[in-house]
Amino acid sequence: MKIRICFGFRNSNFGFHNRADFTIGENRGTAYIMAKIISFDMDGTLVNPEFTEWVWLHGIPRLYARKRGISFDEARALVVEEYRKVGEGAIEWYDIKYWFKVFELDETWEALMEHYAGKISAYQDAGHILGRLKEKYPLVLSSNAGREFIDVEMDVTGLGRYFDRIFSATSDFGVVKKTVRFYQQVCEALKAEPEEIVHVGDHYEFDYLVPRSLGIHAFYLDRSGKQSEDSFLSDLRDLEKRLLPIADGRLRIPD
Ligand SMILES: [Mg+2]
Repeated sequence: MKIRICFGFRNSNFGFHNRADFTIGENRGTAYIMAKIISFDMDGTLVNPEFTEWVWLHGIPRLYARKRGISFDEARALVVEEYRKVGEGAIEWYDIKYWFKVFELDETWEALMEHYAGKISAYQDAGHILGRLKEKYPLVLSSNAGREFIDVEMDVTGLGRYFDRIFSATSDFGVVKKTVRFYQQVCEALKAEPEEIVHVGDHYEFDYLVPRSLGIHAFYLDRSGKQSEDSFLSDLRDLEKRLLPIADGRLRIPD
């Protein structure tokens, strides 16, 4: 029996045209993945996370030290203590505008980001894989980072041009982690079922276990290469061949 896979979207409002529509091999009665959209995490997956560390742990303390007339080390200890009080479970933790207000910093957050823009770099395999996949799939970015960080990182690396949609957990959905609810909202926005989405990211829980629990076909990126499983990647370039059995229907959805 022949089944058909359609690489496109049911909802034309989404703005894509169907990319391909072809018959695949025998359906042996198992459930098959139909990948329609590829989703990527940003920091640690496509972009080196060094930039965000410079902004939070060097840039803001440096401005605070200048404002208060204290040493950098003293300012950093105070700033980190304030971060800790808010905690990463609070939406404010991720909001750079909030921290500029709290510390009453004289510079703008845009100027601070620009100051450290030289620290932004994409991983070598990122542009390669996005360029290859863009030919076949709509691509989306699903990041935990605030919109301000996403915009500058996509702009400086030039990777923003590959994405049809960009989702920020904190800025767009008001959630601080990529929870099940986050991925559900991404699916709703894309008018796609979870099993039609492939997601790749470097956080074992939030990019791998959580999306898999929803039925998204997730790959865990471990650049150390120490672990090897079918759904683990050590280099993004390996993703393309891992997608082949998904695209042509040979890969069975894991139980
Ligand atoms: Mg990450």
